[in-house]
This record gives sequence, C-alpha cells and structure tokens, in this order.
Amino acid sequence: MSQQGYVAAPPYSQAQPGMGGYQGGFGAGSAPPLYGHYGGPPQAFSAPQTGMMKSPVSSSAGMPPPPASSQYSPNIQQNGAHPQRYPAPPAASAPYGQPPHSPFNSMASSGPPPAQQLTNQMSAMNMGNYAPGPMQSPPPPTSPVAQPHFQTPPPQAMGQPPGPQSPPASMSMAGPPMGVQSMAGPPMGGQSMGGQSMGGPPMGGQSMGGQSMGGPPMGGQSMGGQSMGGQSMGGQSMGGPPMGGPPMGGQSMGGPPMTGMGRPFSGPSPPGPGGFQQPGPGPAGSPGYPQQAGQFGGHMAGPQPGLPGSFPGMPGGLAGPPQKKLDPDSIPSIIQVIEDDKAKQGGQVFSTNIRGQVPPLVTTDFTVQDQGNASPRFMRCTSYSLPCTAELAKQCQVPLASIIKPFANLPKNETPLYVVNHGETGPVRCNRCKAYMCPYMQFIDGGRRFQCAFCNCVNEVPVFYFQHLDHMGRRADFYEKPELSLGSYEFAATLDYCKNNKIPNPPAFIFMIDVSYHNIKSGLVKLICNELKTLLEKLPREEGVESSAIKVGFVTYNKVLHFYNVKSALAQPQMMVVSDTAEMFVPLLDGFLVNYQESKAVIYNLLDQIPDMFADTNESETVFAPVIQAGMEAFKAAECSGKLFIFHSSMPTAEAPGKLKNRDDKKLVNTDKEKTLFQPQKGVFEQLSKECVAQGCCVDLFLFPSQYVDLATMADVPSHTGGSVYKYNNFQMEADGEHFLRDLRKDVQKSIGFDAIMRVRTSTGFRATDFYGAIHMNNTTDIEMAAVDCDKAVTVEFKHDDALSEETGALIQCALLYTTISGQRRLRIHNLSLNCSSQLSELYKSCETDSLINFFAKSAYRAILNQPVKNVREILVNQTAHMLACYRKNCASPSAASQLILPDAMKVFPVYMNSLMKTAPLVGSTELPTDDRAHQRLSVMGMGVEDTQLQLYPRLIPMHNLDVNSEVAPVPVRCSEERLADSGMFLLENGHAMFLWLGQACPPDLIQSIFNLPSLAHLQGHMSTLPELDNPLSKKVRLIICDLLEKRPNSMQLQIVRQKDKPEMLFRQFLVEDKGLHGGASYMDFLCYVHREIRQLLS
Ligand SMILES: [Zn+2]
Repeated sequence: MSQQGYVAAPPYSQAQPGMGGYQGGFGAGSAPPLYGHYGGPPQAFSAPQTGMMKSPVSSSAGMPPPPASSQYSPNIQQNGAHPQRYPAPPAASAPYGQPPHSPFNSMASSGPPPAQQLTNQMSAMNMGNYAPGPMQSPPPPTSPVAQPHFQTPPPQAMGQPPGPQSPPASMSMAGPPMGVQSMAGPPMGGQSMGGQSMGGPPMGGQSMGGQSMGGPPMGGQSMGGQSMGGQSMGGQSMGGPPMGGPPMGGQSMGGPPMTGMGRPFSGPSPPGPGGFQQPGPGPAGSPGYPQQAGQFGGHMAGPQPGLPGSFPGMPGGLAGPPQKKLDPDSIPSIIQVIEDDKAKQGGQVFSTNIRGQVPPLVTTDFTVQDQGNASPRFMRCTSYSLPCTAELAKQCQVPLASIIKPFANLPKNETPLYVVNHGETGPVRCNRCKAYMCPYMQFIDGGRRFQCAFCNCVNEVPVFYFQHLDHMGRRADFYEKPELSLGSYEFAATLDYCKNNKIPNPPAFIFMIDVSYHNIKSGLVKLICNELKTLLEKLPREEGVESSAIKVGFVTYNKVLHFYNVKSALAQPQMMVVSDTAEMFVPLLDGFLVNYQESKAVIYNLLDQIPDMFADTNESETVFAPVIQAGMEAFKAAECSGKLFIFHSSMPTAEAPGKLKNRDDKKLVNTDKEKTLFQPQKGVFEQLSKECVAQGCCVDLFLFPSQYVDLATMADVPSHTGGSVYKYNNFQMEADGEHFLRDLRKDVQKSIGFDAIMRVRTSTGFRATDFYGAIHMNNTTDIEMAAVDCDKAVTVEFKHDDALSEETGALIQCALLYTTISGQRRLRIHNLSLNCSSQLSELYKSCETDSLINFFAKSAYRAILNQPVKNVREILVNQTAHMLACYRKNCASPSAASQLILPDAMKVFPVYMNSLMKTAPLVGSTELPTDDRAHQRLSVMGMGVEDTQLQLYPRLIPMHNLDVNSEVAPVPVRCSEERLADSGMFLLENGHAMFLWLGQACPPDLIQSIFNLPSLAHLQGHMSTLPELDNPLSKKVRLIICDLLEKRPNSMQLQIVRQKDKPEMLFRQFLVEDKGLHGGASYMDFLCYVHREIRQLLS
C-alpha cells in the first residue's frame, strides 16, 4: 500500500445554500413553549375562564361538508374510460382499485356507540352506588358475596338494551359495569399503607403515615372492571360507606387471602402460572377494617411535599411487623390491557376508512388496509378526538400530539406505498398552503376547481389533472389515483424539489474506524473489517434491482485520519494521511466513494490489511469532530447525501477541534445544575450538526467506552441528523462481539431515506407547534433530518389557534421530501383525519395511552436540558393528576370522592408515568453513570410509540412452564418481584436489555435442559448465549430469544442472573411496578399519591 503525506488546500467549495424547491407555507410559528403544557404546571382545578373563550369562527363554519364522507361510498365502481391509470402495484400486494372490503361508514357518524347505551348498561350494574347523603362511614359490609373484582365484563353487544334502572342522563361516562366494586373498598386500615408498609410512600414518608390519615387514600382500593369507560378504584377515605348494595364487601378486596398479604414487601411471592390473571374470588373480603374508615381522607388535604422528594434515597420502609397489603391484582394491569386488545383485535384487518378511529394497540398484531387515512404504523395520536376549543384543551391538559414514523416498515402482507408520477409538472398542490393532493380535497365546479381541505382556498385544477365528477361529486378516477383514495402514497419529485435543481447522486456510506490502541487491542478493528466483507453485500437496494446504488468509502483514524483510495482499477488500496485536523478536507475524490461490487477486490484487500497495519500501534489519543467533518466534506465533494458509521472508543482528547475534557460531576445530580450533564458542550459540534444536516450527512455512532466519554456532546451530531448512538461499555469480544454485530447488521440494512425535510400541515384551527426527534429545526415548521430510517419517529405537538368544527373534524398531512437509496427524489405523504368534539368525554374515550407516554417521555427528556429533574417530575405528576381529575370532574359518573376513577383508555397511564419518572435520565441518582443517562435520553427522543411502550414497560416472560409445542407466544406477567418464583425462570426484555433470571430454587432438570449443567451452582462466568442443546425446552427458549432479537430495532445483550446474586440488581431495576432501586415509588404508591392529588384538585 502506498502512503502519501498529503498537503493540499481544501479543494472543495463552501456549504451549499438552503434547499430549493420546498416552498414555505404557513407563517411564523410560535415561540418555543415552556415545559408544562398549556402554560406551566397545572393550577388549581377550575372551570374554564369564560372571558378567554373564543367563539367558533367562520373559517370552519364555512367549510363544505367533509369531502371524505361522500367519497367513501363503496357503491360506485369505475365506469367509462380513464386515461390515467397508475402503474400496477408490486406483485405481492393486493390489486389496487378494489372496492373497500367493508362498507364505509359516514365518517362523522362512525365511532363508538352512543354514550347513552353504555351508560345504560353500566347503570344496570351499579345502581345503588350513588347513595345520597352524608358519608357516614358505617363499617363496610363483610358480605361474603365474593366476585372476582376488576374483571373484564363480558364483551357485550354495544346496543344492548338498557337495564331496568336508567341512570341520570347527565352521566356522560361510557361506563363499564364496575361501579359496584369501586365503591366497595373497605378500608384497609392504616397499616396497609401508612408510611412504611409499602416500602415507603411516594411522598417521602412524611404526612402519610400518621394517625390522622390512618391509611392510604385508597386503602382497600378496588378496581372496578374496566371494559368501556371509566374505571374506578374504590377507596374509602371520606368514610364513604359502601352505599347500598350488599355485594360490595367481599369483592372489593378481591385479592388473595389476607394471609398472603402480610408478606414483607421484598419477599418473593408464590408463583402463579400466569401472573396477569385475575385472582379468583377471594375469601370474604376484608372484615378487619371497619373502624378506621372514618379516619380516612379528612386530613389529607393540604399541600403535600410532593412525590419527587421521595426519589433519591427513599427510606427502605421494610421494617415493622408484617403489614397488610393491598392486592396488587386489583390495580390496572398493562399486561391485561395488552392481552385484552390482542384478544379483541389481534389478527384482524384494521381499515382506515373511519375518521377518528382509534387503532389497535402497538402491542397487537393486526393488518392495516389503507382506505383513506395513514396506517397507524406511520402515524399515531395521543387522542383521535380533539377538543373543539383551546379552552377545552387547556382544561383537560391532555397533550394533543401525533407520533409520526414516516418510514415505518410494513409487514409483507400490506401494500407498499404507490408512487404517483405527474412527470414534469409535479404533484398537484394547494396554491395557498401548499398542501398536497389528498383524499380530503373537495372537487367542485364540475371538476374544474378544488377546495383545499386545509386552508379552504379554491384552486384551479391543472388541465392535465382534470377529470369529470360523478353524481356524487366525486372524481371518476377516484379509485385509480392513490392520492385521491389513500392515506399514504408517494409522489415522484421534480427538479424543483432537488438541491440546486439537480437530480441527486445516490447516497454513500462511509465506514470510519478508530484504530487507536484500545480498539486494536480488544480485537474490535479486526471484527469490524471481517464483518464488512459480508455486510457490504447486503447494502440496501431498490426492490428488484441487482445491486445497491449506495457508494462506500473507508477511513481509519486515531489522532490523524487515513483515507483510502479503493478505485477498482487499483491493484492495491492507497492510503492518504491527513494530519492537519484543524482544517479538515478530503484528499481524494476519485476512488474514495466507490461502488462496492466494482471495487470488491480492492476493498477486500483493504479490509484484510487494516488490522495488521495498526497492530503495533500505541496511539491512544483520538480526534472526533474532524472525523465527522471529513465525512461530511466527502459527501459535499461527491455531491451526495449519506451516512457515516463511526466506530469510536474514547473521549477525543487529542489536540483538534471538538477536543473534550472530563466534565462529569456527580455532585451536580439533584441540583439546579444537573441539566448541564445533559447539555452538549457548545461550539464545534453545534456548527457541525448544522453543516451535516445541510449536506444530508447522517451520523451513526458506535461507542466502545471504558469510562466517561461525554456522551451528551459526542452524540450531539447523531441526535440532530437522524442518527443513532450504540454503546458497548467495556467491550469484550467474547461477551459483546455478537451483540454489536447484530446492531451493525440491522443498522446497515435498515430501510432509510436521505436528505429529508418534513412538513406537517393541518386544517384550520390548530397547528403543529413543537417537534421532538433526532431532528434539526432551522425554522419553526421545517423538520430537517439528514436521514430518516424505519425506526425513527418524530413526535409533533399541536395547539389550537382557533376553534375546530365537529362536523369537518381535523386533518393532518405530513409530507416528507427525501432521497431514496438509489438517488430518486420523492415526496412521501401521510394523511390522517381526526374527530373533533366539544365533549371532553370523547377525547378521553379516544385517547391512546401508549402515544401519550411517548409524548411525555420526549417532552420530559427535553425539559431536563433546562430544568432540574425534580421540577420535571413534579410537572409530570401534576399533569397526570390534572388530566385524571378533569376526567373525573367532567366525564365520569358521579361517585364518592374516595374512588379513583380512571378513563378506560388511560387506565394504565399511571403505570407508565411512574415508570418514566424512574428512568435513568429522570431519577436523579448519583449511582447511575452520566453517560448512560445521556444515552437513554437521546435514544428515546427518536423513538416511536412501540419502542417507548416497551422501554417503559418491559416484557417479563415466564420460561419455566412453557408449552414447547405451542405456537402461541407465552403471555408475560407484570413487572414486579411479586410475579417471580423461586423455582422459576423468567426472560425480561425492554428492547435494549435482556435478562434470563433464574430463581434460586430452579429445579436441576430445568438447569440441565437449558445449560447442560447439573445445578444452578455450576453456572459460572458471564454467559451471553445459551448452549444449543437438543431438547424441546432449550430449543423453545432459544427460539423465543431469537425471535425477540429479530423483531426489535436494536440488538440486546442476554444477561443471565441468578436470584440473590449481585448482578440481580441490574435486572431488578426493570421491575417497574416495584419501588425504584434508585428512587421512585412503586406503582401502588404512585397510584395512591395521584389519587390524593386528584382529590385535592377536585376539592
Ligand atoms: Zn390550502
């Protein structure tokens, strides 16, 4: 290999000007919102201020009837000739142009059944709950009429005739039959929660334990069934007597026998075969507490010091005599919610023809049929019914947001997006707001004009696009044009949409390998070089094309950079060294970025040589910013976009731009300056991010640190360019090699678009105001991403700026302009129509908890850049209480204040919220490495709903009682120590970490089957893969693990932990229903706390 010192002036030109072609749209955006929605932490609960009410304005009132409803009539197929047929869809897909499978409903009238019917159902079951009169607190009945409480009522027909006793008409809650139990909660007595028994109340122990409270606000809470509407959690605090009905005593406690409740908090519970199952009818209730009922609640008012105070160093709280304990099965279970949704909607077709239709959960497998709205794989919303006015939105404080994953992978049985090509004229758009042609545009005037559904502007239809209307007012070519009938499709973009009006070159990948001492010694460099030889054969390529158009290039570096000429004509690769890292440039153009297939021989040669070339290095210092700079300059010189894969080991301390120093300081944790730990260092990287975005240079960083590297700063460029950061602490070949390679393979092969810019347009009355993701914003509307891959999501928050109309609903159009892997410029359009309502009950009914928590995670993780984590946690708790209190006040049927009533669609929201507050970034613990906290913060910012759901509620799967012959995936259990069994084996995974936990009494034959060892004691060392044994259980367990690794966006390192071994602590922090290892309340305590907050808001 020839090696030249290279001295030359940077030959390439200045930064490109901004992107051409993407016309600006709406006016200026709003000022950056503060954290805390709708103007800061919630205040006391109050009615909306009428003085601020806006009246509906003419813009929406003047809208034509929703175009879509008339368009979605199934009865008209095509007739006559239609000149413009678009190309046939890919072979695998269903033929396009078929009529919808099911009759379309009118959009406006679709949706859940009228509340009245549900109300009637509910009333049939819980009349008698609403006993008038003072709450006297008679002893709770001890009736043995035990029913399993918190049971899912049978899925009865929506239109079931009302029960004999009709409820007050005012009850707006679509209620499930759970009122009965909810009221029934016999007081649990002070001992159950007071102070310590639960391992410390969420509020730091003070003020809850005392006599005055005598117990938790929820005492023997009982959870009503949850089917349709609110669900209630009974409590007794005000001495609320179980009103009336005898059936209450027993079932409210529902749970296991009282004896079972006396276990100390930390004791493992007896295993259940499937922990999510509801307990059977418990023995007769809870006769033991009647006398204390009257003490509850009355003293609970008054400001509480707050949950957040309990975070660091919460008292252990395990002391004291055995405590009576609330039944954990009685509070809402995420696992139950997931399984219920699977049972209801799993395997079914979800057609997107109905406005405001709430999709199945992200955890449910279903097939999407695009019938006019974007698939939930592309767009999900926090609620599918927006409140009509800003006042209502402010009142409920439910954030209105959409989580958009524009490049989401579709399963093989769903139709890939059609590409519409209008040739040189490009897509048809509204002249005023620039919205793209979509199913909501209303054609008028015999088809010569169309009215924009977003801004109401009336536009001329271009001559080439003219088409007659049928008697329904719909274009005759409706079914032939994806942009008239589908929620998602693509347009071929014209030169106007290309940088400098030039068709882009295909993108490139540059592999940049840190060859300093650390990476050589660990064997990492050799591992990467070997892997690339096979991986480069699998570069992403267009469907049906022989080879990838993506060019590749190679750089190695330590304190200096080595560029390689791998031109196919060369016999040997050539190295060029650039040692002036202050003025980074690329020393060669021709031969640096090449077609892999053409230069394969030279590249092989290079990959073979690299490990040897640096085998004797003792250079331990590295540069970092110049590496990114070099890659970006190379793309600039080649006039292409692309991705840098950087494999880096240490903090860049060599003298060069972007040199970093150790600024880790645990003393800042839990102070006002903690935020500086998350903030990147200003300067070089900030500027570099902008340049990378302008060039379409995405940066993926694979980090192999052995100590603090200032990840917050090093990840700054990746996190603004649509990139990812992978981190392997103390990388060791044997334990981590395969784990890293799995990540690398997924990363290289995933579907991706480059040089992307996204705009979210809305119909009048509301607009996108805030954006969260691995993105860059130069202004208030254009979301720029150097690249966007199938796993990246942008969370967009909306605010009202006017009133919305129930009749027309609300529209969102997301337009993503990007360059394909073969260099075509495309526009990808996703449309979604939502309902609007002046009834908050509609909003709560149409909420999606998984989306809500995605929004809260991202907004909180951004907020900690500017505020102490303690404040952010307080805001989260306050907002949770506020949202639920608003539901209680406005939507739920009247009930005793002591009940905790949760909207059905949000009943597990508190679990997620509590889990979020215990995550590393928010928990404020000095025990957690700063880099890990920063890493988690940044990864979540780019996540979609599926990933945040899993991150915040891991899957805990019993593996000791698998049915090895079953095809059905084993059902997880709740994430609590309670669900573990001494003799069990459990798999836990959250998309980033994976554990196999072994109880200390694991039977030897189980150990033998899985590990080929005689007993647990023989299990030594760090095993990260299971041996391949030829028995059904071993095969099944490995298959489950393998499937999970395949399914998740990231690889996970399997860690095997034994009960009571030290590493078990790592595992335990994922048991998110329990008290946090580093602070934070248990789910039960949190729920109690939130309940109390709600009551204060309502009082
Ligand atoms: Zn418009």
